[in-house]
Amino acid sequence: MRTLSSLSAVAAMSVAAVSIIAGAAAAQTYPTKPITIIVPFAAGGPSDALARIMGERMKAALGQSFVVENVTGAAGSIAVGRAVKAAPDGYTLSFGHLGTHVANGAIYALPYDMLTDLEPVTMLPSNPMVVVSRGTLPATNLKELLAWLKANPDKATAGTAGAGSGSHIAGVYLETLTGLRLQYVPYRGTAPALTDLVSGQIDIIVDQASNSMQQIRGGRIRAYAVTDSKRLPAAPDIPTAEEAGLPGFHMVLWNGLWVPKGTPREIIARLNAAAVEAMADPAVGKRLNDLGLEVPARDQQTPQALAVWHKAEVDKWWPIIRKAGIKPE
Ligand code: ASP
Repeated sequence: MRTLSSLSAVAAMSVAAVSIIAGAAAAQTYPTKPITIIVPFAAGGPSDALARIMGERMKAALGQSFVVENVTGAAGSIAVGRAVKAAPDGYTLSFGHLGTHVANGAIYALPYDMLTDLEPVTMLPSNPMVVVSRGTLPATNLKELLAWLKANPDKATAGTAGAGSGSHIAGVYLETLTGLRLQYVPYRGTAPALTDLVSGQIDIIVDQASNSMQQIRGGRIRAYAVTDSKRLPAAPDIPTAEEAGLPGFHMVLWNGLWVPKGTPREIIARLNAAAVEAMADPAVGKRLNDLGLEVPARDQQTPQALAVWHKAEVDKWWPIIRKAGIKPE
């Protein structure tokens, strides 16, 4: 005779089997309507730009439009929370980076677990940061800039996309390496911060290269160093951290795509294949390279690779961020 517990085990198994079959069936017709990408920062910024480039090309692969929804505030934690609560049906994606999907967990009391409430789809292109200043700041190289910042400790302002954003973590890193003190001005993304830098309202941003590139090329802001050991092919005039006199100031901001936990495997596989196809497209590659973005190696473009990387980044950054004592906005 079957015991009660073995009966409930059979029932649980058949529920799981039914949901696998339902998932497979949904995946066969998926997608039948537009897909939303929740971008955690302001329109026109680096996250928004990358999400739109990917979405446009993924549309060609999947036959449905990708709609970008900019959900700003608390350095992206509101956006990620929104994605976590969305239906796990492949129609809501969570776009983010080292800040939104790693650093925020060590700064904010989040109502979700960023490692277990989302399922990885793929890692996306990454880029280093670049130290930029308003065009009127009286410094022509990184050493002079650091000297000016040191001489103006209560006055010098650094724009960020909020406590825990890429630009903020990079600013804190710069402070740690140099002993500087910066006054942070949080924005809803580095797009509005850059507007204020161009008009001279703030002094510096340690910005994602892709965001600042056009204004650097146009000579409206000044670039001092990239946070990498190699120069950017898209902006070969900007010195590396080593060349500029700050060895070891290395930070590459990686991006990724996730879906809510419980999304059928087959749908994740379809999304992953579309993203992989997009990143392999030479026309997309050219747009990304122009922005200084680098496509991850093909073996890094699997959901499993993002899962492993994501966990390793949490283990690496949380102690550093907690030690730095970064407070929520
Ligand atoms: N990625 C952010 C944005 O799109 C900026 C940041 O994290 O610093 O505005």
